[in-house]
Amino acid sequence: MKFKPEYNLDVKRTKRKKTIALEVRDNGVKITVPYNLSVEEIEKILEKKNNWINNKLLFQKRKPKYKAKLFLDGEKFLFLGVEYKLKIVYSKTYNVYRENSFICIQRKKNGVSSKKILENYYRQEAKVIFKNKVKHFEKILNLKSSNIKLRAYMRRWGSCNTQGELAFNWRLIMAPEKVINYVIVHELCHIVHYNHSKKFWNLVRYHYPSYKDQVNWLNKYSNCLLW
Ligand SMILES: [Zn+2]
Repeated sequence: MKFKPEYNLDVKRTKRKKTIALEVRDNGVKITVPYNLSVEEIEKILEKKNNWINNKLLFQKRKPKYKAKLFLDGEKFLFLGVEYKLKIVYSKTYNVYRENSFICIQRKKNGVSSKKILENYYRQEAKVIFKNKVKHFEKILNLKSSNIKLRAYMRRWGSCNTQGELAFNWRLIMAPEKVINYVIVHELCHIVHYNHSKKFWNLVRYHYPSYKDQVNWLNKYSNCLLW
């Protein structure tokens, strides 16, 4: 290969697809191409896309890094896009609530972990909030889902299957409401277009004109939504 990229390049050849997919990840680029595409063709594509790739790599570099949570007093946690400080109070009963700028956990000293308690709380809240929001947008879009589920995806925020069943990553509850709204509109639009075609994105844009800002937010802060 005469083309020497400055990034890690992962070329994946597949017999299953006839199209080319380019993906910029943390420290490199992954290109998926049809099985028999020549090296020359691949180089041409990468050279043509060089500016786009470099911009994406720069964006990745500036992204907040993943930082493991310790679930300690004073540690910051996002909820609906707002940062709360964790406050742990030992007691005989369990409870979680948000108060002013604090998210408070009441727990037994040697019982269920703070992480588990907090995740349960986020899931409970997410279930209620997502359901209400889906109902709200179903009316506006004049569409109907068949079921709503919570999932623990690592690399996606929602999904919609051919039966119109929606699933949302519970971690999405940490994002601002605008971002959640966009993801809900996105998944509902899949009931009409079960793909990411131009028609699909036009429908998303029609119902959620600022969707690109929300996509950018998710790309930028995705590491902050992982525990
Ligand atoms: Zn989609």
